[in-house]
Amino acid sequence: MTETQPTAASLTSLKGVGPKLQSQLQEAGIHAVSDILFHLPLRYEDRTRIHPVGALSPGQRVLIEGQVEHAAIVPGKRRMLVVMLADGSGRISLRFFHFRYSQYQQLKRGTRLRCFGEVKAGYQGLEMIHPNYQRLGDASPPPADRLTPIYPTAAGLNQATWLKLTDQAIARLHNGELALTELLPADVLEPLALPSLTDALQLIHRPPPEIDTAALEQRRHPAQQRLALEELLAHNLSMQRLHRQQRGQQAPAMSGQSRLETQFLEALPFTLTGAQQRVVKQIHADLKRPFPMQRLLQGDVGCGKTVVAALAVLRAHASGWQSAITAPTELLAEQHRHSFSEWLAPLGIEPVWLSGKVTGKAREKALGEIAAGAPLVIGTHALMQTGVSFSKLGFVVIDEQHRFGVHQRFALRQKGDQSGVTAHQLIMTATPIPRTLAMTAYAGLEVSVIDELPPGRQPVKTVALSGERRQEVIRRITKACESGRQAYWVCTLIEASDVLEAQAAEDTADELKAALPNVAVGLIHGRMKSRDKEAVMQSFKGGRIQLLVATTVIEVGVDVPNATLMIIENVERLGLAQLHQLRGRVGRGSAQASCVLMYQPPLGPTAKQRLNIMRETNDGFRIAEKDLELRGPGEVLGTRQTGALQFRIADLARDQALLAKIPRIADRMLTGYPQQADALIQRWIGQAERYAEV
Ligand code: ADP
Ligand code: MG
Repeated sequence: MTETQPTAASLTSLKGVGPKLQSQLQEAGIHAVSDILFHLPLRYEDRTRIHPVGALSPGQRVLIEGQVEHAAIVPGKRRMLVVMLADGSGRISLRFFHFRYSQYQQLKRGTRLRCFGEVKAGYQGLEMIHPNYQRLGDASPPPADRLTPIYPTAAGLNQATWLKLTDQAIARLHNGELALTELLPADVLEPLALPSLTDALQLIHRPPPEIDTAALEQRRHPAQQRLALEELLAHNLSMQRLHRQQRGQQAPAMSGQSRLETQFLEALPFTLTGAQQRVVKQIHADLKRPFPMQRLLQGDVGCGKTVVAALAVLRAHASGWQSAITAPTELLAEQHRHSFSEWLAPLGIEPVWLSGKVTGKAREKALGEIAAGAPLVIGTHALMQTGVSFSKLGFVVIDEQHRFGVHQRFALRQKGDQSGVTAHQLIMTATPIPRTLAMTAYAGLEVSVIDELPPGRQPVKTVALSGERRQEVIRRITKACESGRQAYWVCTLIEASDVLEAQAAEDTADELKAALPNVAVGLIHGRMKSRDKEAVMQSFKGGRIQLLVATTVIEVGVDVPNATLMIIENVERLGLAQLHQLRGRVGRGSAQASCVLMYQPPLGPTAKQRLNIMRETNDGFRIAEKDLELRGPGEVLGTRQTGALQFRIADLARDQALLAKIPRIADRMLTGYPQQADALIQRWIGQAERYAEV
């Protein structure tokens, strides 16, 4: 967030900042004086008012002043310094477990102290443990006239350092040495009754004592909301800019309808739902245009997104363009390879396979075919790596987008550059994204929704059972298998460790084989060779494996309609989105399916809420909304690890009201104040917008 104004002084121009502190600050992302002002307090302490000791009650964090009545070092298991302080209205003891002898010597009877700390109820009346204290001379300085900010201790810097730094930065803001440009025009700010940037920052760093501290601590105060608005706006504008830039590029106009499409539809064992037909039309219309499609296809698990993608692939093929389909996991990519091969090979289109595990000669062969114009390439994100070059890439599908970094997808699109055009792009996501979130993360994308499941699907019946009823659950598997159905048993662990998870799955598989001698038990986990994984999946698909013990590798995309029972262990450890994805592996046919969520008691309140919502609904949108509420947006989008969409101030759950206003304000900025819009992106996203370098 470096301001580019020439007046923005370098850090070392501040008193007390030498090369060492400078490099510590830089590590925390603070490069200029203005950045210090965007390092916001976590909470505040009220040291403006001295409280009479006689009126204190436990739990308060307060400033008090009084005289030492006596101080003593109390021996024992934990040696401590105990000081009795009185102010005429009452007494309180101060306890220190860490202290120096000189400290004790300075606390003679009659010494006047000012202390700040939390009041606790002790055995002998009220006490403060390790309060901050200051010895007072004859004259006591006035208490603070502002609330005391407590900063996140970034870069290991202590509060005193942050106070000195922010003091100086604020002073420069006021004397004009530091110019922070107001980027929000009055016609945006005024109707929202939000303060100017300078006023907002002043207030956030040094709030007056009469302020609504509850609002401040929840970051709902107008001063903070103003910053949150800037940040949300910056993200929206940046995504829009990106998509507009894309739209300015050239893409192949694919007009030819293929006879293969009819053949394909006729060979399918089902007819498309109305929603699927509608979305196919939208996509085909996009593909006709000479600029890149950027469409997000949302649809709950099992709604049938894959077949829609296949129809787009055929359209690209008919116009002589290559398609690429990429999925976030090896297993899911494999599934696609099988579906597409089954569907399209009879029409003469055999997909080329490329994952990170394809190496040596096989890789060279695949790369050669891709370069020579193979009509369809399927794989993992290995497709996005350099060294993979297409001769005529015209259409790209990114499945289960929430697993990719939000920005990663821009990499693959550029693969079309060989032919001087940008590929059309379809992003498919099974985790329904709450609208407010979509508006930010996918601002500027066209959105299609498949809001209809294929006919005959019944909602999965979900029960939550304690792990103590494991034997009962195992008996249920026998019943399902006897009636010709198949089942999954999903093992999960707290730590996402491939090794441990694989081990747990192996142990469980052994246990279940022993308990269920008449059931064919298979095992799949992330540490198996992809060839072995594929063989297991094929056996399961073909019914030769009846019970598949798996890790969460099967979370996305796996499609075996005859599997009607899923057991998930240790569900208290999983988030809602993940549970929903897992459960989506059953109920994919017309038979009634069920899901057993097995937990280890006792359950915490959040875990309880999660299980309840899973039992109550199969609706991915409701589950996603709830997930956003319980866990925050990073988790819902799956971007927590990649660091994308991390906000400094804004909170997509808390700032719903602001979010709703963003699209309109963003339009206003783009039409009326394009330079400010760019500066806002620079201020809040800056270097992070690397993906925009297209
Ligand atoms: P998702 O949207 O979760 O990726 P899939 O594309 O894997 O869903 O489809 C789920 C299952 O539903 C597949 O077995 C697919 O063949 C089947 N399917 C798709 N569309 C229909 C339809 N219109 N009628 C019946 N079954 C369908
Ligand atoms: Mg899918």
